Amino acid sequence: MAATVLVVEDEPAIQELIAFNLKQTGHVALTATSAELADRMIKETMPDLILLDWMLPGMSGIEFARKLKADAFTKSIPLIMLTARGEEQDKVRGLETGADDYVTKPFSPRELSARIKAVLRRRAPQMTDDQVEVAGLALDPITHRVTGNGASVDLGPTEFRLLHFLMTHPERVHSRTQLLDNVWGNQVYVEERTVDVHIRRLRRALEPTQHDNLVQTVRGSGYRLSHRV
Ligand code: CA
Repeated sequence: MAATVLVVEDEPAIQELIAFNLKQTGHVALTATSAELADRMIKETMPDLILLDWMLPGMSGIEFARKLKADAFTKSIPLIMLTARGEEQDKVRGLETGADDYVTKPFSPRELSARIKAVLRRRAPQMTDDQVEVAGLALDPITHRVTGNGASVDLGPTEFRLLHFLMTHPERVHSRTQLLDNVWGNQVYVEERTVDVHIRRLRRALEPTQHDNLVQTVRGSGYRLSHRV
């Protein structure tokens, strides 16, 4: 699944290079030349990951990272700091602000995409192309194929995303609001009971191979994918 990556970088050449490479690796790149601009953009479109330059005009990258991590709305966005400084002291400071990783300039496009992939894998596994499997139910994000014990399972696009999210975050209870944020995106106005409708459709699609009971209702809390009864 393509991730929307916000690049906050004031040097045009670097910004362009990063945006180009993000598109090459199948992601959507949003760009901002300052923290102030990025702050306004986040209110419109929630990125899946932020690449944040340390040295910015106006609010510095570090200050902005602290601000993001202090705000309930933005604190869970994965964050990679970009910097020209390579000193260990700065790295520690960067990570202390809650950044997930740290890339020192100059970096190769390949290094950056590897870091992005690693952070997404850790923080937002539904954004990667890794195949997932739980108890004989397999989902391939690249081919969009789902199989139950080898038999093909036919899913609509929303059910596919819902299942992908649940499978990449198994054993955890997700509230309807969390599912809306992660599967529908929180910019879309959808009623909570829409989640129930799609959960029902998903279960029905999983019935033939008896994988429907993987999708469990946790009364009063939400839903969970688990192979434990
Ligand atoms: Ca800079």
